Amino acid sequence: MIQKPTAIVIGAGIGGIATAARLAKNGYSVTVLEKNGTPGGRANQIIRDGHRFDIGPTLFLMPEVWEETFASLGEKMEDHLDLRRIDPTYKVHFDDGLQLELTSNIGKMQEQLEKIDKTAFTGFLNYIAEGAKHYKISLEKFVGRNFFSIFDYFSLKNLPLIFKLKALDKHYRNTGRYFKDERLKAAFTFQNMYLGLSPYDAPATYSLLQYTELAEGVWYPMGGLYAGIQALVNVAEKLGVKFVYNAPAKKLETNGEKVLSVVLEDGRTFSSDIFVGNADLPYIYKELLPDPFEAKKLDKKLYTCSTIMFYWGVDKQYPQVAHHNVFLGGNYKASFDQIFKDHELPNVPSFYVHAPARTDPAAAPDGQDTLYVLVPVGHLDAASEQDWDERVNRARQTVLERLSKEMGIDDLESHIKFEIVYQPEDWKERFNLEKGAAFGLSHNFWQVGYLRPQNRHKKYKNLYFAGASTHPGTGLPIVLLSARLTTERILMEKGTITVQNMVNAVAAATE
Ligand SMILES: Cc1cc2nc3c(=O)[nH]c(=O)nc-3n(C[C@H](O)[C@H](O)[C@H](O)COP(=O)(O)OP(=O)(O)OC[C@H]3O[C@@H](n4cnc5c(N)ncnc54)[C@H](O)[C@@H]3O)c2cc1C
Repeated sequence: MIQKPTAIVIGAGIGGIATAARLAKNGYSVTVLEKNGTPGGRANQIIRDGHRFDIGPTLFLMPEVWEETFASLGEKMEDHLDLRRIDPTYKVHFDDGLQLELTSNIGKMQEQLEKIDKTAFTGFLNYIAEGAKHYKISLEKFVGRNFFSIFDYFSLKNLPLIFKLKALDKHYRNTGRYFKDERLKAAFTFQNMYLGLSPYDAPATYSLLQYTELAEGVWYPMGGLYAGIQALVNVAEKLGVKFVYNAPAKKLETNGEKVLSVVLEDGRTFSSDIFVGNADLPYIYKELLPDPFEAKKLDKKLYTCSTIMFYWGVDKQYPQVAHHNVFLGGNYKASFDQIFKDHELPNVPSFYVHAPARTDPAAAPDGQDTLYVLVPVGHLDAASEQDWDERVNRARQTVLERLSKEMGIDDLESHIKFEIVYQPEDWKERFNLEKGAAFGLSHNFWQVGYLRPQNRHKKYKNLYFAGASTHPGTGLPIVLLSARLTTERILMEKGTITVQNMVNAVAAATE
């Protein structure tokens, strides 16, 4: 009998689950070792007293990437997920009282934008058209493929594309070409925070985010984003993947050329032909591998911001809170500087509120509400003293005050049955995220594509990575792409490639 090749995946985040499933589909015997008691990582959920919270992701974007993942595993997405489009995508609240509903309804956008500035609607159409161009080129030429050398990345064919994508222009400044009103520039750039980036530093390429949301849609799977994790775990298990929970890896044992085994905190040891690190890549280099010099190099990289989270079980319903709500506050530039340069909570924090029961009544008990609040904040900084209790209290106060002042919700505090708080130290402790950076390594020009840490270790040639801090980057669909690219690379390098994989890889490499 032919022995199946073996793979160990460290971490059951979406990247680990999807890679495990793809490898199993391609003939590997796969075991996933997860530190925590349940899968999902940052996309896990909390259920308490009938309230259901997604702890991290709340926006289901790029459904076509999810579809491709299910299809590659021999399944249909619609058999697993009941998706609902959320439109208007967000209600944006400005601190001067202006409210803007971002929607794919072009008539409604025109009406709202022209009230603010006569030229804004034309600007919007051009801006979204540019976003569409950026999205298509990025996905096809940069995000959806592996790069095996620097010449491959900065090839003669790609160089003009870097300019076409405005990769060297700053997003906020570029938005000024389309909008005069500062509030609109903010409304069409705050989404950079999903990548954990300041719009003042982010490449203008990222107008692709606004295109994705308004044209391809913001979706919600009934049952919450965690339904996506559960569906992928079910498919992986059906393909034979074995999940071992409460199994934190302590170190990777090597012979200098390849990884031989992974040793768990409790001493259990697992050997395998190949290993895939889904835990945060800088953490793996720093804590699991034996090369401190390589780990030090990652210390110099830029990291994304972190977040303070409030998960509130509320014994009253607040129908005026939409499914997705964004509250922008204070001096926009100063607040990003405070987050990204000072690693602080801004003096006037902006925040996001998610009320899933607007779409999915099962997210809260009858007549009650489930509220998730995300307040962006600087990541952990060993060089400064960070008083997280003070920051958490100030963030909570800001949220309660604005909801009271701008929405007339003045009794919320007395209706909160319970509060669960996550702050940067929790992100670090629960999921081993380096610096508590909620979105992993940053995505500036110098940390994307070939310049991002690669999905295979340079020295240990049987150690691969899949997840937010490797290529292509953060966000559920982008991590699903990471799982696809890592699997393709493994299959290509380990000679276990199918005809279809080979056709895809050759097409990508010759573009
Ligand atoms: C607050 C927040 C909001 C977000 N919002 C969105 C959104 O709306 N839409 C979107 O698309 N994306 C969003 N994201 C991003 C998205 O959640 C991530 O990009 C994605 O979940 C990362 O998946 P991953 O598999 O790379 O990593 P992770 O989810 O971090 O998974 C890694 C796994 O490895 C495990 N692990 C760590 N160390 C060890 C060890 N030593 N041994 C064994 N296991 C270990 C961890 O416990 C974890 O389960 C959000 C993220 C956050 C934090």
